[in-house]
Amino acid sequence: MIRYALSCGDCEHAFEAWFASSDAYDTQAKRRLLTCPDCESRNIDKQIMAPAVKTTKGKAASADPETLLAAFAAKTREHVAENFDYVGGDFAEEARAMYYGEQDDRPIWGETTAEERESLAEEGVPALPLPAPFAPKPPKRKPRQPVN
Ligand SMILES: [Zn+2]
Repeated sequence: MIRYALSCGDCEHAFEAWFASSDAYDTQAKRRLLTCPDCESRNIDKQIMAPAVKTTKGKAASADPETLLAAFAAKTREHVAENFDYVGGDFAEEARAMYYGEQDDRPIWGETTAEERESLAEEGVPALPLPAPFAPKPPKRKPRQPVN
């Protein structure tokens, strides 16, 4: 026997049901034999489960949203720090140069002013805000020589 956490696509009622095997679940789901105990809808699906995240100690972390988010944020920070080139306040300029083909594409991250962010969006330059927990610490960077 196998127990599945199911949810109703119509009334969002969450419930559990036992099946002889995962194949039995698949068959019943495919034939739409599963019904919601609340509204009798046949729009039933398995509940989306959050993955258990391994902590550095190798234990499965409790899957509360804050822990998951923190782990995800840490991974993102690491990824950005390792793979993205920090361009600081030149972000808008660099992103625009890449967008218009004046410069080769490369992954960058940095800061913009609100005005710069708006004009990037208006021009259709692809850029995404990185919420604080997802942004790595800006690396120490030598100030750029003025261009002029
Ligand atoms: Zn329902």
